[in-house]
Amino acid sequence: MARTGLRRRLFAMTLVNAAMLVGVVLILTWRSNQAQQELRRLVTTEGVAIERLGKVATLHASFRAQWIAAAARGPEAVASAGRSYGSIRQLAVSPGSDARSAQIGDLANGLAAELRNAVRSWPEWDDAGRRAKATAITVQCERITRQAAIARDAALRERDAKLETISHDPRNTLAIAFGIAWIVAVMSMAGAVTAMRRIVSPLENLSRAAQRIAAGEYAARAPVAGDREIAELGSAFNEMAAKVEATLDATTQRALTDELSGLPNFRAFSEHLQDELIRADRYPERFGLIVVDIDHFKKYNDAFGHLAGNDALRAVSATIRRTLRTVDFPARYGGEEFVAILPQVDEEGMRVIGERVRQAVESLPPIEGRRAITISIGGALFPSDGKTSEELFAAADTRLYEAKESGRNRVVVPAPSRITERS
Ligand code: GH3
Ligand code: MG
Ligand code: MG
Repeated sequence: MARTGLRRRLFAMTLVNAAMLVGVVLILTWRSNQAQQELRRLVTTEGVAIERLGKVATLHASFRAQWIAAAARGPEAVASAGRSYGSIRQLAVSPGSDARSAQIGDLANGLAAELRNAVRSWPEWDDAGRRAKATAITVQCERITRQAAIARDAALRERDAKLETISHDPRNTLAIAFGIAWIVAVMSMAGAVTAMRRIVSPLENLSRAAQRIAAGEYAARAPVAGDREIAELGSAFNEMAAKVEATLDATTQRALTDELSGLPNFRAFSEHLQDELIRADRYPERFGLIVVDIDHFKKYNDAFGHLAGNDALRAVSATIRRTLRTVDFPARYGGEEFVAILPQVDEEGMRVIGERVRQAVESLPPIEGRRAITISIGGALFPSDGKTSEELFAAADTRLYEAKESGRNRVVVPAPSRITERS
């Protein structure tokens, strides 16, 4: 299975988090900019427009009074009023983007035209004409005043509504920030969970396996899991553990095996004997211990050389192993002496097995030019001859000595009569 690299995962996680944070900052900055610009526009542009509309209303209201007075005084006053309206008209027709301002501008232009006409024709009109004109201009003036006041109020209301909306903006921005922060937190959690699953927990398993091996549990292995580097570490660890285990097995095996004969050595035998003593004592059971010694081996060595002696030792070892039962446990005791544990035997059984071994060695065909080899065997029985290894060895050695004394190439084991004595 294709595994993600640890480097790549960490890099990707960092990149995603950094990108999200940059995104958050950009979005919030953009929103706050927008809000600021809108606020500035409302305060400056719209403020100026509202103020102008207010002025247009006030000026037309005062012009109405000025006009009524002028119309009552005569052509001079009318002409003066007509002139003074120029600057008021100027203010009313100042460029305004909305329809209401445009309408007020049109009305002001209309009023200016009426005034020009009145100034020009005032001397020629009779009183009735003048009154009618004066009233028409007054009404027009009032209309502009009303329209400007309405437009100003509407603009004010609109601005207040917008300001109200903008005042909510920090709260909206905060909500967006919280939303994004939540997403970032969830993504970070997901990243952390993945890291736990793909990095931390395989490392913990690896560490547990290492601790088990350190505690002597050499068969322990780590699960190969996680990102590529960690899985490779797991594989390498397992390979190493397998090699350590194999080396240890081989070393242990060597430490417990006699090099020359290939039989278990005395150390292995001692351990096995202790186990057998405990087992036989618990159930309870009998078992035999035989000590085997090659007859006149010194002479054999002297006659045919040490290497020939070694050949003879190997031949005797192989014969002992071959002749004993599979449940028996033979070992090289040291020099030209061997021992064997024979589980669940009585005196007769031990004698039969001992005889079989003795005869098998005796009938080994001598290597050309050398003489035949014989062995003597002394046996002891658990528990009748003793319940400790020392007691059993002492009894077996005594009987081996008897076998040597009585002419060698023979087996001396406890007499069967002892069975009766024991039971
Ligand atoms: P006995 O019949 O009384 O047992 O006489 P023996 O000569 O066998 O007895 P002894 O214990 O006096 O001599 C044992 C000899 O075994 C001495 C030594 O030369 C020989 N021997 C011991 N270990 C080895 C070995 O590893 N290789 C060889 N070739 N000879 C060994
Ligand atoms: Mg000896
Ligand atoms: Mg000997």
